[in-house]
Amino acid sequence: MQRRLRPPFLSMQVVSSKQEIRNVLDRLRLQGKSIGFVPTMGALHKGHMTLVEQSKANADITVVSIFVNPTQFGPKEDLERYPKPLKEDMRVCEAYGVDILFTPEASEMYPDRQNIGFVIETMTDHLCGQTRPGHFQGVVQIVNKLFNIVEPDVAVFGLKDIQQFRIIERMVEEFDHPIRILPGETVRENDGLAVSSRNLYLTEAERKKAPSLYQAIYHIAKEIEGGNTDLVSMLDEGKALLERSECKIDYLSVVDYQDLQPLPSVQEAEKIIVAGAVFLGKSRLIDNLIVNRNS
Ligand code: AMP
Repeated sequence: MQRRLRPPFLSMQVVSSKQEIRNVLDRLRLQGKSIGFVPTMGALHKGHMTLVEQSKANADITVVSIFVNPTQFGPKEDLERYPKPLKEDMRVCEAYGVDILFTPEASEMYPDRQNIGFVIETMTDHLCGQTRPGHFQGVVQIVNKLFNIVEPDVAVFGLKDIQQFRIIERMVEEFDHPIRILPGETVRENDGLAVSSRNLYLTEAERKKAPSLYQAIYHIAKEIEGGNTDLVSMLDEGKALLERSECKIDYLSVVDYQDLQPLPSVQEAEKIIVAGAVFLGKSRLIDNLIVNRNS
């Protein structure tokens, strides 16, 4: 088997074959090391790096994967133009003390046609699941495969992708993966915009409008925290704010943290997610805030 050459400045191991990463991790497990895992699609930023820090605080060895998973992109989505600055990503991972970077090709992860899929009930009925049909099936497929390859003790996922986070938590429970899932707080720019690889697509003018998504969900979250129960008018105000910034609204919703179903009234849940997605030019941005009503 041909070994991939490692750039001489890296002490981090960069591995692209499933067998090789299994061998490397088996050796480490035999030495009693625990494994932390941060799956990503690359174009790494400070949000990803807080997940790395969390993994390092919770496990001996941190593995980051970079894989732009084709099965979670719809036919009209941005798979082809998704940024792939691999050299810079390697530099960042090295600087943050990542131990192993797993960078498989699509042919390594999907050598054949996949015949077996996943059905996700109710949790994909709303939010991104509604507008990105098949997306979370692709996410569950790849995360399941990565979990079976890396076999981590802990895995860290960002709360920025709250629906993904909740579905992965559920998958681990239902499929009996012996993995602890840790949540990573959303990292934001100074003006509130959630850091995202997709922010790279924004023009200067769009970048100025982008924080309105955070402003809209923040407004609703604060109103709920302050005791406002009039969901319809809160959502209307949030939508008006987005429209003034010329954001095309994909959704703006208030759902129950437990089952991700829209709430008829805020009194019906203790833990609430205020979530939104907008199109700005070529970019689709998502964000959310979690409100604990009784804290
Ligand atoms: P991605 O590369 O977009 O698939 O994201 C990889 C992981 O990073 C996911 O668990 C995301 O939820 C998480 N993530 C993305 N953006 C942020 C952010 N701004 N703050 C914290 N975590 C993030």
